[in-house]
Amino acid sequence: MQLYQEQNIKIYNSLSGNKELFESITDGYIGMYVCGPTVYSNVHLGNVRTFMSFDMIFRYFKHLGYKVRYVRNITDAGHLENDADEGEDRIAKKARLEQIEPMEVVQRYTVDFHNILNKFNFLPPSIEPTATGHIIEQIEIIKEIIDKGLAYEVNGSVYFDVLKFNETRTYGKLSKRNVEDLIHNTRALDGQSDKKNPQDFALWKKAEPQHIMRWPSPWSDGFPGWHLECTAMSTKYLGEQFDIHGGGMDLKFPHHECEIAQAEACNGCSPVKYWMHANMLTLNGKKMAKSTGNNILPGEIFTGENDILSKAFSPSVTRFFMMQAHYRSILDFSNDALEASEKGFHKLMEAIDVIDDLPKGNTSSFDISAWKQRCYDAMNDDFNTPILIATLFEAVKFINQTKEGKAEISAEDHTTLKQTVHAFVFDVLGLTAVGTAASSEDGDDKLSGAVELLIRLRAEARANKDFATSDKIRDELAALGVQLKDGKEGTTFSVN
Ligand SMILES: [Zn+2]
Repeated sequence: MQLYQEQNIKIYNSLSGNKELFESITDGYIGMYVCGPTVYSNVHLGNVRTFMSFDMIFRYFKHLGYKVRYVRNITDAGHLENDADEGEDRIAKKARLEQIEPMEVVQRYTVDFHNILNKFNFLPPSIEPTATGHIIEQIEIIKEIIDKGLAYEVNGSVYFDVLKFNETRTYGKLSKRNVEDLIHNTRALDGQSDKKNPQDFALWKKAEPQHIMRWPSPWSDGFPGWHLECTAMSTKYLGEQFDIHGGGMDLKFPHHECEIAQAEACNGCSPVKYWMHANMLTLNGKKMAKSTGNNILPGEIFTGENDILSKAFSPSVTRFFMMQAHYRSILDFSNDALEASEKGFHKLMEAIDVIDDLPKGNTSSFDISAWKQRCYDAMNDDFNTPILIATLFEAVKFINQTKEGKAEISAEDHTTLKQTVHAFVFDVLGLTAVGTAASSEDGDDKLSGAVELLIRLRAEARANKDFATSDKIRDELAALGVQLKDGKEGTTFSVN
């Protein structure tokens, strides 16, 4: 018996607009596809939140005993500046501006993406395929769609015929748009475009002479349209129908709508059972944008080198902060909110630290099994992490009361309490424990010695009124996940 057989999960399906009982297509197995980053710049904090939501979902499925194949792609070609198939390829543009190879751009920002996600303790997906690694598969899909009469070639480019598709199927059902509205709202073609109708989208684009990212095809030397790679890679690795497709809210239209159209045109069936969309992140109540300066890179949170936050925050505190909001709610990132999360995070970790030392009695004054089920209920209700965290804090309160002798726990319940807290905090929420940064006890000792030395140097710097140095020590340690805390008894530290 696996845990998932005892739990009923409900998922908000963006396609139906309802919470639906989750039943995987094949019992015990889940196929999940999430649209990954276009690697032409440092990963955006809003995207980190989206990927973190799906990391948490992946983790919960695994905790329940499902075998999950989680595919998250890397977009390394075909994503143009403009969603209407116009403008330069984002990666090629960066390569031109920096005078390097497009694949150097791809390498640099793929490494950055992985580094940041590792700091946040993400699990790697099962497969991380790239668009350029699947050009042949994309060409095959285009041929099939042309054969079905739902795409047409003009001057070496191939476009998906939205109106023709809409005669037998429904275009726009995910984003709740109908084709009449789209026709009405899309600006008229300016005569430069090869498209029959403005709502058609590119499956293949003929490369202009200056376009360096190009591949041979039956139609021209060119490159695939952005929406096509996800259809090619999800079909290849998860099949014509799979359980979950996720991404940011902003991808619903046109990207996911086009994915549905391509897959249905090709395979004749709806590709995805549950569509899931994570909401956006704002910064101090406003949309994040580089152009206005209302922007922060994930790495700048850990170092404190930014104009937004008063100090550095560790990846684990930032992760805890993000998990305190439901993935479908807008989350506002601010200094005050992070400081509040930091307090909560330490309170949680301090309680976990003392579980082992709690005195065990004959009975329990807290219903552990009912509490445990409430933790599952929270997650089963469309992955409600804020409710889960509130439920975990019921345990924190009980642990602290037991420690003070104001409550009691039996030996059996003690085991359940510890296992459940560990499972949800570390396995499901993906938080990292205090004091586990070093790999061995020997390493712990050396780390402690090194940090204590830095604490003494910082105290000397402060005594000399050299606050620049003392702040630098504090912030750079925080960036490494070592938090210093100044108290009456002197400075202590914790490792996240
Ligand atoms: Zn995609």
